[in-house]
Amino acid sequence: MAGLLRNLLLQTCSRRGSKFSVRHLKMALLSSLRTPGLCGALYYTGTRSISSGTLHIKDSLNFWSGGRVSLKDVKTKSEPVYEPATGRVLCQLQACGAADVDAAVRSASAAFTVWSKLAGMERARVMLEAARLIGKRREEIAEIEVVNNGKSITEARLDVDSARLCIEYFAGQATTLSGQHVQLPGGSFAYTRREPLGVCVGIGAWNYPFQIAAWKSAPAIACGNSMVFKPSPVTPVTAVLLAEIYSQAGAPEGLFSVVQGGQETGSLLCHHPSVAKVSFTGSVPTGKKIMEMASRGVKPVTLELGGKSPLIIFEDTDLENAVRGALMANFLSQGQVCSNGTRVFVQSSVLPPFLKEVARRTKAIQIGDPLLDETRMGALVSKPHLEKVLGYVKQAKKEGARVLCGGEPFIPADPKLKDGYYMTPCVLDGCTDDMTCVREEIFGPVMSVLSFDTEDEVLRRANDSALGLAAGVFTKDVKRAHRVIQNLQAGSCFINNYNITPVEVPFGGYKASGIGRENGQVTIEFYTQLKTVVVEMGDVDSLF
Ligand code: NAD
Repeated sequence: MAGLLRNLLLQTCSRRGSKFSVRHLKMALLSSLRTPGLCGALYYTGTRSISSGTLHIKDSLNFWSGGRVSLKDVKTKSEPVYEPATGRVLCQLQACGAADVDAAVRSASAAFTVWSKLAGMERARVMLEAARLIGKRREEIAEIEVVNNGKSITEARLDVDSARLCIEYFAGQATTLSGQHVQLPGGSFAYTRREPLGVCVGIGAWNYPFQIAAWKSAPAIACGNSMVFKPSPVTPVTAVLLAEIYSQAGAPEGLFSVVQGGQETGSLLCHHPSVAKVSFTGSVPTGKKIMEMASRGVKPVTLELGGKSPLIIFEDTDLENAVRGALMANFLSQGQVCSNGTRVFVQSSVLPPFLKEVARRTKAIQIGDPLLDETRMGALVSKPHLEKVLGYVKQAKKEGARVLCGGEPFIPADPKLKDGYYMTPCVLDGCTDDMTCVREEIFGPVMSVLSFDTEDEVLRRANDSALGLAAGVFTKDVKRAHRVIQNLQAGSCFINNYNITPVEVPFGGYKASGIGRENGQVTIEFYTQLKTVVVEMGDVDSLF
Protein backbone atom coordinates (compact mmCIF):
# COMPACT_ATOMS: atom_id res chain seq x y z
CA MET A 1 0.00 0.00 0.00
CA ALA A 2 2.78 2.39 1.02
CA GLY A 3 4.76 1.35 -2.05
CA LEU A 4 1.79 2.10 -4.29
CA LEU A 5 1.31 5.51 -2.75
CA ARG A 6 5.01 6.28 -3.11
CA ASN A 7 4.99 5.35 -6.81
CA LEU A 8 1.93 7.48 -7.34
CA LEU A 9 3.64 10.42 -5.68
CA LEU A 10 6.79 9.94 -7.75
CA GLN A 11 4.71 10.01 -10.94
CA THR A 12 2.92 13.12 -9.76
CA CYS A 13 6.25 14.77 -9.03
CA SER A 14 7.61 14.03 -12.51
CA ARG A 15 4.47 15.30 -14.17
CA ARG A 16 4.59 18.53 -12.22
CA GLY A 17 8.34 18.86 -12.82
CA SER A 18 8.92 20.27 -9.34
CA LYS A 19 12.58 21.31 -9.22
CA PHE A 20 12.86 21.06 -5.48
CA SER A 21 11.33 17.64 -5.28
CA VAL A 22 13.19 16.00 -8.15
CA ARG A 23 16.55 17.38 -7.06
CA HIS A 24 16.03 16.30 -3.50
CA LEU A 25 14.78 12.92 -4.50
CA LYS A 26 17.90 12.34 -6.61
CA MET A 27 20.09 13.44 -3.70
CA ALA A 28 18.20 11.05 -1.48
CA LEU A 29 18.67 8.12 -3.81
CA LEU A 30 22.37 8.90 -4.30
CA SER A 31 23.05 9.25 -0.63
CA SER A 32 21.20 6.06 0.20
CA LEU A 33 23.34 4.25 -2.37
CA ARG A 34 26.49 5.79 -0.94
CA THR A 35 25.61 4.84 2.62
CA PRO A 36 24.95 1.12 2.60
CA GLY A 37 24.47 1.10 6.36
CA LEU A 38 24.51 4.21 8.44
CA CYS A 39 26.17 2.50 11.33
CA GLY A 40 28.68 0.77 9.15
CA ALA A 41 29.82 4.23 8.17
CA LEU A 42 29.51 6.08 11.42
CA TYR A 43 29.36 3.91 14.45
CA TYR A 44 30.68 0.43 14.27
CA THR A 45 34.24 -0.15 15.28
CA GLY A 46 34.08 -3.85 14.47
CA THR A 47 31.86 -6.02 12.36
CA ARG A 48 28.53 -4.86 11.00
CA SER A 49 26.33 -6.71 13.48
CA ILE A 50 26.84 -5.65 17.07
CA SER A 51 26.67 -7.46 20.36
CA SER A 52 26.31 -5.95 23.82
CA GLY A 53 29.46 -4.21 24.98
CA THR A 54 30.93 -3.55 21.53
CA LEU A 55 29.45 -0.30 20.25
CA HIS A 56 31.42 2.95 20.59
CA ILE A 57 29.92 6.25 19.55
CA LYS A 58 32.29 9.01 18.62
CA ASP A 59 30.49 11.26 16.15
CA SER A 60 28.60 14.36 17.18
CA LEU A 61 24.99 13.66 18.13
CA ASN A 62 23.87 17.18 17.23
CA PHE A 63 22.37 17.73 13.81
CA TRP A 64 21.23 20.87 12.04
CA SER A 65 21.81 22.73 8.78
CA GLY A 66 21.85 19.39 6.99
CA GLY A 67 24.56 17.57 8.95
CA ARG A 68 26.16 16.60 12.24
CA VAL A 69 27.71 19.63 13.92
CA SER A 70 30.34 20.23 16.57
CA LEU A 71 29.20 22.64 19.26
CA LYS A 72 30.39 26.23 19.49
CA ASP A 73 28.86 27.12 22.82
CA VAL A 74 30.46 24.61 25.18
CA LYS A 75 30.00 25.86 28.74
CA THR A 76 29.22 22.70 30.68
CA LYS A 77 31.13 19.49 31.32
CA SER A 78 30.21 16.55 29.12
CA GLU A 79 28.12 13.80 30.71
CA PRO A 80 28.54 10.05 30.20
CA VAL A 81 25.86 8.08 28.36
CA TYR A 82 25.58 4.42 29.39
CA GLU A 83 24.77 1.10 27.81
CA PRO A 84 22.20 -0.30 30.29
CA ALA A 85 22.88 -3.93 29.35
CA THR A 86 26.51 -3.73 30.53
CA GLY A 87 26.75 -0.53 32.59
CA ARG A 88 29.56 0.58 30.25
CA VAL A 89 30.00 4.20 29.06
CA LEU A 90 28.78 4.40 25.48
CA CYS A 91 29.76 7.99 24.73
CA GLN A 92 30.06 11.45 26.23
CA LEU A 93 27.26 13.94 25.76
CA GLN A 94 27.84 17.65 25.44
CA ALA A 95 24.80 19.86 26.05
CA CYS A 96 23.93 22.62 23.59
CA GLY A 97 24.12 26.14 24.97
CA ALA A 98 22.28 29.28 23.85
CA ALA A 99 24.33 29.93 20.68
CA ASP A 100 23.92 26.35 19.45
CA VAL A 101 20.20 26.26 20.23
CA ASP A 102 19.87 29.53 18.34
CA ALA A 103 21.76 28.11 15.35
CA ALA A 104 19.47 25.07 15.27
CA VAL A 105 16.32 27.19 15.50
CA ARG A 106 17.57 29.52 12.75
CA SER A 107 18.23 26.54 10.53
CA ALA A 108 14.72 25.25 11.29
CA SER A 109 13.24 28.69 10.47
CA ALA A 110 14.98 28.68 7.09
CA ALA A 111 13.68 25.17 6.41
CA PHE A 112 10.15 26.24 7.35
CA THR A 113 10.18 28.96 4.69
CA VAL A 114 10.85 26.39 1.96
CA TRP A 115 8.92 23.43 3.35
CA SER A 116 5.70 25.23 4.26
CA LYS A 117 5.29 26.37 0.65
CA LEU A 118 5.41 22.87 -0.78
CA ALA A 119 2.24 21.05 -1.77
CA GLY A 120 1.14 18.31 0.60
CA MET A 121 1.98 15.75 -2.09
CA GLU A 122 5.55 17.06 -2.25
CA ARG A 123 6.00 16.83 1.51
CA ALA A 124 4.46 13.36 1.44
CA ARG A 125 6.99 12.19 -1.12
CA VAL A 126 9.93 13.09 1.12
CA MET A 127 8.24 11.51 4.11
CA LEU A 128 7.55 8.27 2.26
CA GLU A 129 11.17 8.11 1.20
CA ALA A 130 12.19 8.59 4.85
CA ALA A 131 9.84 5.77 5.83
CA ARG A 132 11.38 3.55 3.19
CA LEU A 133 14.89 4.29 4.50
CA ILE A 134 13.77 3.47 8.03
CA GLY A 135 12.41 0.16 6.80
CA LYS A 136 15.71 -0.56 5.07
CA ARG A 137 17.68 0.21 8.22
CA ARG A 138 15.23 -1.40 10.64
CA GLU A 139 17.72 -3.79 12.17
CA GLU A 140 20.58 -1.36 12.70
CA ILE A 141 18.34 1.34 14.21
CA ALA A 142 16.77 -1.27 16.50
CA GLU A 143 20.19 -2.55 17.58
CA ILE A 144 21.44 0.93 18.46
CA GLU A 145 18.20 1.64 20.34
CA VAL A 146 18.77 -1.51 22.38
CA VAL A 147 22.36 -0.58 23.19
CA ASN A 148 21.33 2.88 24.40
CA ASN A 149 18.02 2.01 26.06
CA GLY A 150 18.30 -1.58 27.30
CA LYS A 151 14.96 -2.86 25.93
CA SER A 152 14.81 -6.17 24.06
CA ILE A 153 15.62 -6.27 20.36
CA THR A 154 12.17 -7.74 19.67
CA GLU A 155 10.51 -4.66 21.15
CA ALA A 156 12.99 -2.24 19.59
CA ARG A 157 12.14 -3.62 16.12
CA LEU A 158 8.47 -2.92 16.81
CA ASP A 159 9.34 0.63 17.90
CA VAL A 160 11.17 1.21 14.63
CA ASP A 161 8.17 -0.19 12.74
CA SER A 162 5.87 2.15 14.64
CA ALA A 163 8.10 5.10 13.71
CA ARG A 164 8.01 4.09 10.04
CA LEU A 165 4.25 3.55 10.03
CA CYS A 166 3.70 6.90 11.72
CA ILE A 167 5.68 8.70 9.03
CA GLU A 168 3.81 6.80 6.29
CA TYR A 169 0.47 7.60 7.93
CA PHE A 170 1.16 11.32 8.23
CA ALA A 171 2.57 11.40 4.69
CA GLY A 172 -0.97 10.43 3.69
CA GLN A 173 -2.44 13.09 5.97
CA ALA A 174 -0.20 15.75 4.40
CA THR A 175 -2.23 15.47 1.23
CA THR A 176 -5.56 15.93 2.97
CA LEU A 177 -5.17 19.25 4.81
CA SER A 178 -8.27 21.25 4.10
CA GLY A 179 -10.59 23.91 5.47
CA GLN A 180 -14.29 24.63 5.47
CA HIS A 181 -16.49 26.71 3.20
CA VAL A 182 -19.20 28.66 5.05
CA GLN A 183 -22.12 30.28 3.21
CA LEU A 184 -23.06 33.78 4.37
CA PRO A 185 -26.03 36.06 3.49
CA GLY A 186 -26.10 37.83 0.13
CA GLY A 187 -23.83 35.35 -1.61
CA SER A 188 -20.90 36.26 0.62
CA PHE A 189 -18.94 33.41 2.10
CA ALA A 190 -16.05 32.54 4.34
CA TYR A 191 -13.45 29.83 4.19
CA THR A 192 -10.93 28.43 6.60
CA ARG A 193 -7.37 27.34 5.93
CA ARG A 194 -5.24 25.00 8.01
CA GLU A 195 -1.82 26.62 8.15
CA PRO A 196 1.38 25.41 9.81
CA LEU A 197 2.63 27.00 13.02
CA GLY A 198 6.32 27.46 12.21
CA VAL A 199 9.26 26.00 14.13
CA CYS A 200 8.01 23.36 16.55
CA VAL A 201 10.08 21.99 19.37
CA GLY A 202 9.92 18.32 20.34
CA ILE A 203 11.26 17.19 23.71
CA GLY A 204 11.43 13.46 24.32
CA ALA A 205 11.59 10.94 27.16
CA TRP A 206 14.04 8.04 27.30
CA ASN A 207 11.69 5.06 27.06
CA TYR A 208 10.91 5.19 23.30
CA PRO A 209 13.68 7.41 21.93
CA PHE A 210 13.37 6.77 18.19
CA GLN A 211 9.61 6.27 18.20
CA ILE A 212 8.93 9.49 20.13
CA ALA A 213 11.11 11.45 17.67
CA ALA A 214 9.01 10.04 14.81
CA TRP A 215 5.65 10.43 16.53
CA LYS A 216 6.39 14.13 17.05
CA SER A 217 8.13 14.98 13.80
CA ALA A 218 5.78 13.13 11.41
CA PRO A 219 2.62 15.17 12.08
CA ALA A 220 4.67 18.35 12.49
CA ILE A 221 6.35 18.16 9.10
CA ALA A 222 3.27 16.72 7.37
CA CYS A 223 1.53 19.99 8.25
CA GLY A 224 4.38 22.09 6.87
CA ASN A 225 6.23 22.88 10.10
CA SER A 226 9.89 22.26 10.87
CA MET A 227 11.06 20.71 14.12
CA VAL A 228 13.97 21.01 16.52
CA PHE A 229 14.03 17.87 18.64
CA LYS A 230 15.77 17.36 21.97
CA PRO A 231 16.02 13.74 23.05
CA SER A 232 16.51 12.73 26.66
CA PRO A 233 20.19 13.04 27.66
CA VAL A 234 19.88 9.43 28.87
CA THR A 235 19.11 8.15 25.34
CA PRO A 236 20.52 10.69 22.88
CA VAL A 237 21.70 8.31 20.18
CA THR A 238 18.93 7.33 17.76
CA ALA A 239 17.17 10.69 17.18
CA VAL A 240 20.16 11.80 15.13
CA LEU A 241 19.68 8.75 12.89
CA LEU A 242 16.18 10.00 12.14
CA ALA A 243 17.62 13.44 11.30
CA GLU A 244 20.04 11.82 8.85
CA ILE A 245 17.27 9.77 7.31
CA TYR A 246 15.00 12.77 6.73
CA SER A 247 17.94 14.56 5.19
CA GLN A 248 18.78 11.61 2.93
CA ALA A 249 15.11 11.43 1.97
CA GLY A 250 15.32 14.93 0.53
CA ALA A 251 14.12 17.17 3.36
CA PRO A 252 15.48 20.71 3.21
CA GLU A 253 18.38 21.48 5.56
CA GLY A 254 17.15 22.14 9.08
CA LEU A 255 13.70 20.56 8.62
CA PHE A 256 14.33 18.13 11.47
CA SER A 257 17.22 19.14 13.71
CA VAL A 258 18.53 17.49 16.86
CA VAL A 259 20.00 19.38 19.80
CA GLN A 260 21.34 17.50 22.78
CA GLY A 261 21.16 18.38 26.45
CA GLY A 262 19.05 18.27 29.57
CA GLN A 263 16.78 20.74 31.26
CA GLU A 264 18.82 23.85 30.46
CA THR A 265 18.87 23.12 26.74
CA GLY A 266 15.18 22.23 26.92
CA SER A 267 14.33 25.47 28.61
CA LEU A 268 16.36 27.48 26.05
CA LEU A 269 14.23 25.85 23.36
CA CYS A 270 10.94 26.58 25.13
CA HIS A 271 11.86 30.25 25.62
CA HIS A 272 13.27 30.84 22.13
CA PRO A 273 11.22 33.62 20.50
CA SER A 274 11.22 31.92 17.08
CA VAL A 275 9.69 28.73 18.44
CA ALA A 276 5.94 28.47 17.79
CA LYS A 277 5.00 25.31 19.69
CA VAL A 278 6.37 22.79 22.16
CA SER A 279 5.46 19.13 22.06
CA PHE A 280 6.69 17.33 25.15
CA THR A 281 6.80 13.72 26.32
CA GLY A 282 7.95 13.12 29.87
CA SER A 283 7.01 13.32 33.50
CA VAL A 284 4.20 15.37 35.01
CA PRO A 285 6.49 17.73 37.00
CA THR A 286 8.54 18.57 33.89
CA GLY A 287 5.34 18.91 31.84
CA LYS A 288 4.10 21.58 34.24
CA LYS A 289 7.37 23.51 33.82
CA ILE A 290 7.13 23.23 30.03
CA MET A 291 3.60 24.60 30.09
CA GLU A 292 4.67 27.47 32.30
CA MET A 293 7.59 28.38 30.02
CA ALA A 294 5.46 28.11 26.88
CA SER A 295 2.75 30.27 28.45
CA ARG A 296 5.15 33.20 28.62
CA GLY A 297 5.29 33.23 24.83
CA VAL A 298 1.62 32.18 24.51
CA LYS A 299 2.80 29.06 22.68
CA PRO A 300 0.59 26.01 22.37
CA VAL A 301 1.79 22.79 23.96
CA THR A 302 1.21 19.09 23.49
CA LEU A 303 1.91 17.26 26.74
CA GLU A 304 2.25 13.47 26.84
CA LEU A 305 2.85 12.81 30.52
CA GLY A 306 2.87 10.03 33.08
CA GLY A 307 0.18 7.61 34.14
CA LYS A 308 -0.98 5.22 36.85
CA SER A 309 -3.57 3.45 34.81
CA PRO A 310 -6.18 0.92 35.94
CA LEU A 311 -6.74 -2.44 34.31
CA ILE A 312 -10.04 -4.02 35.41
CA ILE A 313 -10.58 -7.76 35.13
CA PHE A 314 -14.15 -9.00 35.61
CA GLU A 315 -14.96 -12.58 36.63
CA ASP A 316 -16.74 -13.34 33.33
CA THR A 317 -13.58 -12.88 31.29
CA ASP A 318 -11.43 -15.53 29.66
CA LEU A 319 -8.88 -15.55 32.48
CA GLU A 320 -5.92 -16.83 30.42
CA ASN A 321 -6.47 -13.97 28.03
CA ALA A 322 -6.75 -11.46 30.86
CA VAL A 323 -3.46 -12.69 32.34
CA ARG A 324 -1.79 -12.22 28.97
CA GLY A 325 -3.28 -8.71 28.89
CA ALA A 326 -2.01 -7.93 32.39
CA LEU A 327 1.51 -8.95 31.40
CA MET A 328 1.37 -6.78 28.27
CA ALA A 329 0.03 -3.97 30.43
CA ASN A 330 2.96 -4.14 32.84
CA PHE A 331 6.15 -5.63 31.49
CA LEU A 332 6.82 -4.17 28.05
CA SER A 333 10.07 -2.16 27.99
CA GLN A 334 10.92 -3.36 31.52
CA GLY A 335 7.72 -1.70 32.72
CA GLN A 336 8.93 1.71 31.54
CA VAL A 337 5.80 2.55 29.56
CA CYS A 338 3.68 5.61 30.33
CA SER A 339 0.36 3.91 29.54
CA ASN A 340 1.01 0.77 31.60
CA GLY A 341 -1.97 -0.60 33.52
CA THR A 342 -0.11 -0.96 36.80
CA ARG A 343 -3.17 -0.96 39.04
CA VAL A 344 -4.65 -4.34 38.18
CA PHE A 345 -8.13 -4.64 39.73
CA VAL A 346 -9.30 -8.28 39.75
CA GLN A 347 -12.84 -9.33 40.79
CA SER A 348 -12.42 -11.23 44.06
CA SER A 349 -14.05 -14.46 42.81
CA VAL A 350 -11.27 -15.00 40.24
CA LEU A 351 -8.38 -13.54 42.21
CA PRO A 352 -6.73 -16.85 43.30
CA PRO A 353 -6.50 -18.39 39.79
CA PHE A 354 -5.46 -15.03 38.38
CA LEU A 355 -2.60 -14.67 40.87
CA LYS A 356 -1.42 -18.23 40.29
CA GLU A 357 -1.27 -17.83 36.52
CA VAL A 358 0.15 -14.31 36.52
CA ALA A 359 2.97 -15.37 38.88
CA ARG A 360 3.73 -18.48 36.81
CA ARG A 361 4.00 -16.49 33.60
CA THR A 362 5.94 -13.63 35.19
CA LYS A 363 8.54 -16.01 36.62
CA ALA A 364 8.98 -17.48 33.13
CA ILE A 365 9.91 -14.15 31.51
CA GLN A 366 13.39 -14.51 30.08
CA ILE A 367 15.63 -11.71 31.38
CA GLY A 368 19.05 -11.11 29.89
CA ASP A 369 21.07 -9.74 27.01
CA PRO A 370 18.62 -7.42 25.23
CA LEU A 371 20.30 -7.99 21.87
CA LEU A 372 19.41 -11.68 21.89
CA ASP A 373 16.20 -12.70 20.15
CA GLU A 374 15.07 -14.99 22.96
CA THR A 375 15.26 -12.23 25.60
CA ARG A 376 11.90 -10.84 26.64
CA MET A 377 13.10 -8.42 29.33
CA GLY A 378 16.30 -6.41 29.06
CA ALA A 379 17.87 -3.87 31.38
CA LEU A 380 16.27 -0.83 32.99
CA VAL A 381 17.48 2.45 31.57
CA SER A 382 19.94 3.53 34.28
CA LYS A 383 21.38 2.58 37.63
CA PRO A 384 19.61 5.37 39.55
CA HIS A 385 16.33 4.38 37.92
CA LEU A 386 16.83 0.69 38.81
CA GLU A 387 17.51 1.69 42.42
CA LYS A 388 14.39 3.87 42.46
CA VAL A 389 12.21 1.00 41.19
CA LEU A 390 13.70 -1.48 43.70
CA GLY A 391 13.06 1.17 46.38
CA TYR A 392 9.36 1.17 45.46
CA VAL A 393 9.22 -2.63 45.95
CA LYS A 394 10.86 -2.25 49.36
CA GLN A 395 8.39 0.46 50.31
CA ALA A 396 5.45 -1.69 49.14
CA LYS A 397 6.60 -4.54 51.41
CA LYS A 398 6.91 -2.09 54.30
CA GLU A 399 3.35 -0.90 53.69
CA GLY A 400 1.99 -4.47 53.74
CA ALA A 401 1.97 -5.67 50.11
CA ARG A 402 2.97 -9.28 49.48
CA VAL A 403 5.61 -9.99 46.85
CA LEU A 404 4.27 -12.86 44.74
CA CYS A 405 7.40 -12.94 42.63
CA GLY A 406 10.38 -10.84 41.54
CA GLY A 407 11.37 -7.38 42.67
CA GLU A 408 15.03 -8.33 43.12
CA PRO A 409 18.20 -7.20 41.32
CA PHE A 410 19.19 -9.74 38.66
CA ILE A 411 22.66 -10.62 37.41
CA PRO A 412 22.67 -12.51 34.09
CA ALA A 413 25.04 -15.45 33.69
CA ASP A 414 27.03 -13.79 30.89
CA PRO A 415 29.95 -12.01 32.67
CA LYS A 416 29.88 -9.00 30.33
CA LEU A 417 26.36 -8.20 31.62
CA LYS A 418 27.25 -8.31 35.33
CA ASP A 419 27.17 -4.51 35.72
CA GLY A 420 23.93 -4.06 33.77
CA TYR A 421 20.72 -2.69 35.32
CA TYR A 422 18.53 -5.79 35.55
CA MET A 423 15.77 -6.78 37.93
CA THR A 424 13.20 -9.57 38.10
CA PRO A 425 9.65 -8.52 37.14
CA CYS A 426 7.51 -8.17 40.21
CA VAL A 427 3.88 -8.91 41.09
CA LEU A 428 2.56 -7.38 44.32
CA ASP A 429 -0.53 -8.92 45.90
CA GLY A 430 -2.70 -7.60 48.73
CA CYS A 431 -2.34 -4.00 47.59
CA THR A 432 -4.67 -1.31 48.88
CA ASP A 433 -5.61 2.02 47.35
CA ASP A 434 -3.55 4.10 49.77
CA MET A 435 -0.21 2.32 49.21
CA THR A 436 2.62 4.22 47.54
CA CYS A 437 2.95 1.49 44.87
CA VAL A 438 -0.71 2.05 43.94
CA ARG A 439 -0.64 5.85 44.01
CA GLU A 440 2.67 6.72 42.31
CA GLU A 441 4.02 5.96 38.86
CA ILE A 442 6.87 3.48 39.43
CA PHE A 443 7.90 3.22 35.77
CA GLY A 444 9.40 -0.22 36.21
CA PRO A 445 8.33 -3.89 36.04
CA VAL A 446 6.08 -3.82 39.09
CA MET A 447 2.41 -4.87 38.90
CA SER A 448 0.15 -4.03 41.82
CA VAL A 449 -2.88 -6.35 42.13
CA LEU A 450 -6.01 -5.16 43.97
CA SER A 451 -9.25 -7.03 44.45
CA PHE A 452 -12.78 -5.67 44.03
CA ASP A 453 -16.37 -6.90 44.27
CA THR A 454 -18.72 -4.61 42.30
CA GLU A 455 -18.63 -2.51 39.15
CA ASP A 456 -19.55 0.73 40.96
CA GLU A 457 -16.85 0.15 43.53
CA VAL A 458 -14.11 -0.53 40.99
CA LEU A 459 -15.06 2.50 38.88
CA ARG A 460 -14.82 4.80 41.88
CA ARG A 461 -11.45 3.35 42.89
CA ALA A 462 -10.05 3.27 39.35
CA ASN A 463 -10.87 6.96 38.87
CA ASP A 464 -9.35 7.96 42.21
CA SER A 465 -6.13 9.28 40.68
CA ALA A 466 -4.85 12.66 39.54
CA LEU A 467 -3.66 10.91 36.37
CA GLY A 468 -5.74 9.66 33.45
CA LEU A 469 -3.55 8.40 30.65
CA ALA A 470 -4.96 4.93 29.92
CA ALA A 471 -7.35 2.28 31.19
CA GLY A 472 -8.41 -1.24 30.27
CA VAL A 473 -11.21 -3.68 30.90
CA PHE A 474 -11.45 -7.44 30.38
CA THR A 475 -14.98 -8.85 30.21
CA LYS A 476 -17.14 -10.92 27.85
CA ASP A 477 -20.17 -8.72 28.59
CA VAL A 478 -20.20 -6.25 25.72
CA LYS A 479 -22.60 -3.84 27.44
CA ARG A 480 -20.54 -3.78 30.60
CA ALA A 481 -17.32 -3.25 28.61
CA HIS A 482 -18.62 -0.07 26.98
CA ARG A 483 -20.37 1.17 30.11
CA VAL A 484 -17.22 0.80 32.19
CA ILE A 485 -15.00 2.45 29.58
CA GLN A 486 -17.48 5.33 29.28
CA ASN A 487 -17.15 5.95 33.00
CA LEU A 488 -13.38 5.71 33.21
CA GLN A 489 -11.48 9.01 33.28
CA ALA A 490 -8.74 8.15 30.81
CA GLY A 491 -7.74 9.23 27.30
CA SER A 492 -6.51 5.92 25.85
CA CYS A 493 -8.73 2.93 26.64
CA PHE A 494 -8.64 -0.75 25.75
CA ILE A 495 -11.31 -3.46 25.80
CA ASN A 496 -9.98 -7.04 26.06
CA ASN A 497 -6.41 -6.03 25.20
CA TYR A 498 -3.84 -3.51 26.40
CA ASN A 499 -1.02 -1.26 25.15
CA ILE A 500 -2.04 -1.45 21.52
CA THR A 501 -1.10 1.82 19.82
CA PRO A 502 -1.83 1.82 16.08
CA VAL A 503 -0.69 5.09 14.53
CA GLU A 504 -4.15 5.66 13.04
CA VAL A 505 -5.56 6.06 16.53
CA PRO A 506 -5.20 9.15 18.77
CA PHE A 507 -3.11 8.61 21.90
CA GLY A 508 -3.01 10.87 24.95
CA GLY A 509 -4.25 11.52 28.43
CA TYR A 510 -7.00 13.02 30.58
CA LYS A 511 -6.40 15.00 33.77
CA ALA A 512 -2.73 15.50 34.73
CA SER A 513 -1.60 12.97 32.10
CA GLY A 514 -1.54 15.56 29.39
CA ILE A 515 -2.95 17.89 26.80
CA GLY A 516 -3.42 17.18 23.11
CA ARG A 517 -3.01 13.93 21.24
CA GLU A 518 -0.42 12.13 19.17
CA ASN A 519 -1.29 9.99 16.14
CA GLY A 520 -4.61 9.80 14.32
CA GLN A 521 -6.20 12.50 12.17
CA VAL A 522 -6.90 14.77 15.14
CA THR A 523 -3.17 15.44 15.59
CA ILE A 524 -3.30 17.65 12.51
CA GLU A 525 -5.20 20.14 14.71
CA PHE A 526 -2.31 20.29 17.15
CA TYR A 527 0.26 21.17 14.49
CA THR A 528 -1.75 23.73 12.53
CA GLN A 529 -3.57 26.98 13.14
CA LEU A 530 -6.84 27.94 11.58
CA LYS A 531 -7.14 31.00 9.39
CA THR A 532 -10.64 32.34 8.66
CA VAL A 533 -11.18 34.42 5.54
CA VAL A 534 -14.45 36.34 5.07
CA VAL A 535 -15.25 37.25 1.45
CA GLU A 536 -17.76 40.07 0.80
CA MET A 537 -19.72 39.75 -2.44
CA GLY A 538 -21.69 43.00 -1.97
CA ASP A 539 -20.76 46.50 -0.77
CA VAL A 540 -19.63 47.57 2.67
CA ASP A 541 -22.68 48.33 4.81
CA SER A 542 -21.09 51.04 6.93
CA LEU A 543 -22.52 52.27 10.23
CA PHE A 544 -20.56 55.50 9.88
P1 NAD B 1 11.51 13.80 32.32
O1 NAD B 1 10.34 14.68 32.54
O2 NAD B 1 12.52 13.69 33.37
O3 NAD B 1 12.30 14.28 31.01
C1 NAD B 1 11.69 14.35 29.75
C2 NAD B 1 12.45 15.32 28.87
O4 NAD B 1 12.33 16.63 29.40
C3 NAD B 1 13.94 15.04 28.76
O5 NAD B 1 14.34 15.26 27.43
C4 NAD B 1 14.54 16.06 29.69
O6 NAD B 1 15.87 16.40 29.37
C5 NAD B 1 13.61 17.24 29.46
N1 NAD B 1 13.57 18.23 30.55
C6 NAD B 1 13.71 18.02 31.87
N2 NAD B 1 13.55 19.18 32.55
C7 NAD B 1 13.29 20.14 31.63
C8 NAD B 1 13.04 21.54 31.70
N3 NAD B 1 13.02 22.20 32.87
N4 NAD B 1 12.82 22.21 30.56
C9 NAD B 1 12.81 21.56 29.37
N5 NAD B 1 13.06 20.25 29.23
C10 NAD B 1 13.29 19.53 30.36
O7 NAD B 1 10.93 12.37 31.92
P2 NAD B 1 11.73 11.01 31.65
O8 NAD B 1 12.26 10.52 32.96
O9 NAD B 1 12.67 11.20 30.51
O10 NAD B 1 10.56 10.07 31.14
C11 NAD B 1 9.73 9.34 31.98
C12 NAD B 1 8.37 10.01 32.09
O11 NAD B 1 7.83 10.23 30.81
C13 NAD B 1 7.35 9.12 32.80
O12 NAD B 1 6.60 9.89 33.69
C14 NAD B 1 6.47 8.63 31.67
O13 NAD B 1 5.17 8.28 32.06
C15 NAD B 1 6.49 9.79 30.74
N6 NAD B 1 6.17 9.38 29.37
C16 NAD B 1 4.94 9.72 28.86
C17 NAD B 1 4.58 9.30 27.59
C18 NAD B 1 3.24 9.65 27.01
O14 NAD B 1 3.06 9.51 25.81
N7 NAD B 1 2.26 10.06 27.79
C19 NAD B 1 5.47 8.55 26.83
C20 NAD B 1 6.71 8.23 27.37
C21 NAD B 1 7.04 8.66 28.65
